[in-house]
Amino acid sequence: MSALTLAFVAPWECSRAVANIPREPREDVVVVLLESVAKGASLPWHRQKLVLILSAMRHFAASLEAAGYRVVQRNAPTYAEGLAALARELGATRVVATEGREQDMVDELDRARVLLREAGVSLVLREDRGFLATREEFTTWARGRKEYRMEWFYREMRRKHGILMEPDGTPSGGEWNFDADNRKPWPKNRPVPPVWRVEPDTVTREQMERVRTWKQRWGSVDSFGLPVTRAEAKSWLERFVIERLPEFGPYEDALVHGAPDLLHSTLSSIINVGLLHPLEVVKRAERAYREGLVPIASAEGFIRQILGWREYIRGMYWQLMPGLRTANALGAPLPLPMWFWAPDGEAYNGASHGACEMRCLNDTIAQVRDFGRTHHIGRLMIQCNFATMLGVEPAALSRWYWAGFTDAYEWVELPNVAGMGTWGDGGALASKPYVASGAYVNRMSNYCGPCRYDVKQRTGPDACPMNFLYWDFMARHCERFAKHPRMRMMTKHLDGMADAELVQLRRQADEFRASLSYDRET
Ligand code: SF4
Repeated sequence: MSALTLAFVAPWECSRAVANIPREPREDVVVVLLESVAKGASLPWHRQKLVLILSAMRHFAASLEAAGYRVVQRNAPTYAEGLAALARELGATRVVATEGREQDMVDELDRARVLLREAGVSLVLREDRGFLATREEFTTWARGRKEYRMEWFYREMRRKHGILMEPDGTPSGGEWNFDADNRKPWPKNRPVPPVWRVEPDTVTREQMERVRTWKQRWGSVDSFGLPVTRAEAKSWLERFVIERLPEFGPYEDALVHGAPDLLHSTLSSIINVGLLHPLEVVKRAERAYREGLVPIASAEGFIRQILGWREYIRGMYWQLMPGLRTANALGAPLPLPMWFWAPDGEAYNGASHGACEMRCLNDTIAQVRDFGRTHHIGRLMIQCNFATMLGVEPAALSRWYWAGFTDAYEWVELPNVAGMGTWGDGGALASKPYVASGAYVNRMSNYCGPCRYDVKQRTGPDACPMNFLYWDFMARHCERFAKHPRMRMMTKHLDGMADAELVQLRRQADEFRASLSYDRET
């Protein structure tokens, strides 16, 4: 009898596009998909995130069985214990798995190695196929650099993969970056595109019913409509390229009430669970540009998110771990406001904590509750901006993103939140904090007009909280950023402000902080 290999498939490897399935004859391989009870209990995961992973895993298992593989799906106390128990039960001689994509899985695989060794079973780790740069490549790129700027890494990735490059080695369209063309607000009377939805099949509906009643979970489940198979994922990509990509660039930073996606693709959730490979997505967008269907500003803006930002953020995660989990360069002391779990004042953990009357914050949080997502400007310039200026500890905000977004895993949310979003890393990712007053929100969205607060007022009962929090933030940190070229104008403005006004602004910020309920448990 031949030696038996267990192929462990992680929850983010839900298709053959990324999973490491050994090449041995199929009768010598058992594919293992596990649900870890410990992982499930570690955060109040969004129900739609759980449905996405659980349904995609089941569909992948069925496709492997149809291809002739023996597949085992089961619950286990931990991934390590589940693998060790199965290896013993089935008499396997080795386990093949992909290297841990985030720290918790690295630790689990280390524990598994010890348990398996006791049973005489070897553990073989393969490279993660879900990225275009290996961890070693990023480490080599980062070595000796004073600054890890995404733009330089992105250009190397463009050259390496020949994406949006001309035969003479110059970037297509004559520029590397078309961001300056991509900052338009949504036109006032233009209808908002609907939220796309794949009708859930029987397998998905079973998982929706399963998670609906689970305690210590968050978010709605009924609006779930993400792809859960590779065929659905490919159709979603195709639809995005045809219907949204041509205008994606100019409106990628626009915000509209009630619109979690606008012209965004939602492909991050689909790629990060393993249903699409990042290179096939990038190449499809490039082909649309070459065929004249998509202008360069849109193609480049979209490709940069995947070929540049996604790869860079994964590299930076490993570059900055483990310290990134507790990074707090600005000394932000506060837990997460309860609004992040209950923006409309609904009960959470058995109590109501008051509704959020900030229309911008309320809406982007409600989008996360209802769909497990809001697009990058809602995340960065509303949620992270508010939390940074309020003084929320980056780790507390990070856990909310990790639990609540269907595309979030620690490798992607932690550098985005503790680095870019809150400047907790002290500037490794972004040279200055992304903070802005209500004027930015008013320029890029339709939030402010009907808001209970007045975006033009800085103090007083109707003053927009983004305004007094902004000036309070600048006053607390002006010394640190006084010399930064992009913050100098604001710190000078602060210097010219009347003392009485600054005292009033800071008092109002303190009173506002004191008026909120906070989550002291998650
Ligand atoms: Fe947000 Fe202030 Fe505008 Fe209200 S007025 S939507 S709180 S920025």
